[in-house]
Amino acid sequence: MAASNMLTRPQNLAADLQAVRDRITAAALTAGRDPVSVTLVGVSKTHPAAVVQAAIAAGLTDLGENYVQEAVAKIDGIADPRVTWHLIGPLQGNKTRDVAERFQWVHTVDREKIARRLSEQRPHHAPPLQVCLQVRLGGEESKSGVEPQELEALAGQVAVLPRLRLRGLMCIPPAEEDPARQRHWFAELRRLRDALNARGHALDVLSMGMSADFELAIAEGATHVRVGTAIFGPRP
Ligand SMILES: *Cc1c(COP(=O)(O)O)cnc(C)c1O
Repeated sequence: MAASNMLTRPQNLAADLQAVRDRITAAALTAGRDPVSVTLVGVSKTHPAAVVQAAIAAGLTDLGENYVQEAVAKIDGIADPRVTWHLIGPLQGNKTRDVAERFQWVHTVDREKIARRLSEQRPHHAPPLQVCLQVRLGGEESKSGVEPQELEALAGQVAVLPRLRLRGLMCIPPAEEDPARQRHWFAELRRLRDALNARGHALDVLSMGMSADFELAIAEGATHVRVGTAIFGPRP
């Protein structure tokens, strides 16, 4: 099983990647949006570097990783300047330097201290680190993120940090059976983003939607969908 999976995967991978791209295009057009306004972030966590390289060869340029240590090994090993790396997993204070030195995006900033460290540690020869604030919708204990009522204060603190560029909001909402309920969480993130913009921010990014629900997220304005399983298959 494992051996045959390794043999067939690169071929499937290119086809599965194209199928996801086609679904993104269709969802964007249905929503009256330009398909190029949606960036596909391929989530490669737990997949080996060889699989990630096959995805890059198939044209995937934005990659999302969750675990800093695993990501650092892959980023340094692959060392491909075509790739934009996105951190989409929780970030501890003792890992911020590795992240500030290697990633172009961090989607999961949820407190000021982490943001400040990222700004201080971002190398001066690099462009500003692009960041999203992760918002905890639905109040689930197991999820990280800033609470909606604390979002505006955090946005104000992060927006002034010199080596970061605050781009938008990210969420991992509760999983709902009912698509209409799932969609309502995405609408909620968009509403929070629009409210910040009405108060003087200029946030253009909504990072929302995964394999099971990215079309619903696109219908509500997602600019970055984070898709793992639908491209790479089940995680090893
Ligand atoms: C793993 C993960 C994804 C991808 O999930 P799939 O269901 O495999 O598409 C997206 N976003 C985050 C934050 C993740 O941790």
